[in-house]
Amino acid sequence: MGKDVGGLGFRDLLIFNKALIAKQCWKLISRPNSLTARVLKGCYYPNTSFLVAKPLPSGSMIWKGLIWGRDIIEAGSRWRIGNGSSVKIYGDRWLPRPVTFKTVSPQILDEHTTVSDLFISPGVWDMTCIRASFHVDDAEAILSLPLSSSDLPDRLIWHFEKSRDYYVRSGYQVGCDWMSQASSSRLGRLNDWWNYLWRLRIPPKIKHFIWKACHHWLPTLVNLARSGVKTDVLCSQCKRKAETTCHALWGCPKAKHNRTGCDFLVGIWWGDESHFQDLMVLCANKLASRDFEIFCVLLWRTWFKRNQKVHGNWCDTSEDVLGWSVCFLNEFQNTNWPDEKHKNVAQATKMNWVNPDVGTFKVNTAAVSNGNHYKTGIGVIVRDHKGLVMGAITQPILSLYSPQVAKAIAILKGIQFAMEKDLLPTVIESDAKGVVELINRGVTPCSDVGVITTDILALLATRPISIVYSSRPTNIVAVKLAKIASLATSSKIWVNSAPLSVENLVRGDYTC
Ligand SMILES: [Zn+2]
Repeated sequence: MGKDVGGLGFRDLLIFNKALIAKQCWKLISRPNSLTARVLKGCYYPNTSFLVAKPLPSGSMIWKGLIWGRDIIEAGSRWRIGNGSSVKIYGDRWLPRPVTFKTVSPQILDEHTTVSDLFISPGVWDMTCIRASFHVDDAEAILSLPLSSSDLPDRLIWHFEKSRDYYVRSGYQVGCDWMSQASSSRLGRLNDWWNYLWRLRIPPKIKHFIWKACHHWLPTLVNLARSGVKTDVLCSQCKRKAETTCHALWGCPKAKHNRTGCDFLVGIWWGDESHFQDLMVLCANKLASRDFEIFCVLLWRTWFKRNQKVHGNWCDTSEDVLGWSVCFLNEFQNTNWPDEKHKNVAQATKMNWVNPDVGTFKVNTAAVSNGNHYKTGIGVIVRDHKGLVMGAITQPILSLYSPQVAKAIAILKGIQFAMEKDLLPTVIESDAKGVVELINRGVTPCSDVGVITTDILALLATRPISIVYSSRPTNIVAVKLAKIASLATSSKIWVNSAPLSVENLVRGDYTC
């Protein structure tokens, strides 16, 4: 009985077994001091690591089995960079970019060069060297990796779980992808995908738009050229790459800019040359259906804005495309499924900024990415119990981080600022719910954001600083400062004042 009729085929059982054994492999890697790991290392890989150990013909059945399950670990894991000393630039898997996780630029540095050779000092990338030595895609991926100033060891992480720990469920999925690529028989999965798309609660015109994009039917410049139209294929919005469907809707800096605030897309990387449909299948598998619905509307809006630009019409470049898409979807769903109206309305309730207690301070922090200029803007503002401004920062950073990492960096900057100016005790507010939860649970996950939360927890250890979540409307001044920073060329610090352009917003908070 095939999977599409509710059963498990032989192929699925095989992959499932492999995914179960991969769990044992993961334990050997993540707990190298366990008794089993030490015994196996003594027998089979005394001078090397499990990942590169050879399948000896004389090995036990258990050993041969582990080597068999290792394929899945290889397909779904990558290095998280700590001090960078044990990861080779070429050949090792360390970029947050499936399927290979490896650099694609031609090798111009020595083959033994490690990632630490790309640092100017601990925790700081050598941007000039990176831009000179790698293709733009690789350089962007490298600079999106946060670094810690503490001497963290490099660590192998499982890319396909938020916790970065191996789970059989995602191992099984990776195994299926791996086998499908090997046999190129993806029909079952594709049928699932089309059924899923048609069942989504989005307007039919958007379903048809997605369907056309998956079949190369959108008139992007590359598709037009393929169909015989004489045209330049270079993207007219960024002038950097050929305008494939993936470029127009995903890889183009304009498209990235439109995705500002989409925390649910953290960790999804996709190349411009890849098939758009594979990106959609990946997202459909990874995202909650509500997030995937928002994503579909956002892609449709991105194409609409691209057309406005290409046809020379006026286009509002400051539009909050995510906000627009959520409103559009809520309206559609509230009209068609009125019984569930309350769910969406609850999310839209506006809240106000609240003054901190007497004798304490409040630091609001935010980050905004600027895909056009490949920058991240950090905004920080400190106020006292009366709402008076004690200081503010706008800091542009020449890297495009994931939203989660960028907001964690903003929190770190806020803490450092409050400490430098001696504005303690203080409450740090951020609109990054997930990051705030991690910090308050004292968790330093082995994901990229863990690099920053490690530094934050080290600062919090002995100081009267608390970190709390605030919804975006209550954090509006910091968001505005971050927007200013994302367009600025250098950092600015204000003491006992804030930039003129946010004064009205500050007053709005003050009178609330
Ligand atoms: Zn472009």
